[in-house]
Amino acid sequence: MRSNDEPRVRGDMEQRLFVDVDDTLIRAVVDDGQIHPYAFWRCPYRVNEPLVEYVKQFRRDHPEALIVIWSGGGADYARAAVAALFGFDYDCAPMVKDRTTFGLVREWDIVVDDQRICTAERYELRVRAPVLHPDDPEITGECI
Ligand SMILES: [Mg+2]
Repeated sequence: MRSNDEPRVRGDMEQRLFVDVDDTLIRAVVDDGQIHPYAFWRCPYRVNEPLVEYVKQFRRDHPEALIVIWSGGGADYARAAVAALFGFDYDCAPMVKDRTTFGLVREWDIVVDDQRICTAERYELRVRAPVLHPDDPEITGECI
């Protein structure tokens, strides 16, 4: 987790926020220890309300910053989840989450994803920023 004294802005480049969909913004309502691709479309889920609020607060604090809601399920899937959770016109960028987009992450950005420790090659996150888990106190607000 980041310390509070780390800079949030480097030069004129504002920090960006990258948030995963499955098992992060939404959580499948099955407790089987597995990942749940396309849970938004395929199975009952509940919304991770603290994380949704974290995203909204980030937008309030950083009106010009890039917020990426991304998914290995693709940009259309991410866009559908954004519309359901934040509204159709929400100011963010739905994207596919894969090797074509990982390079957008800079070392001082915020990444929130359930895949903190990944062994399977296809799920491995190769980003420069530390990856916060959706349950981290920084997200839930329990550290304040
Ligand atoms: Mg996920």
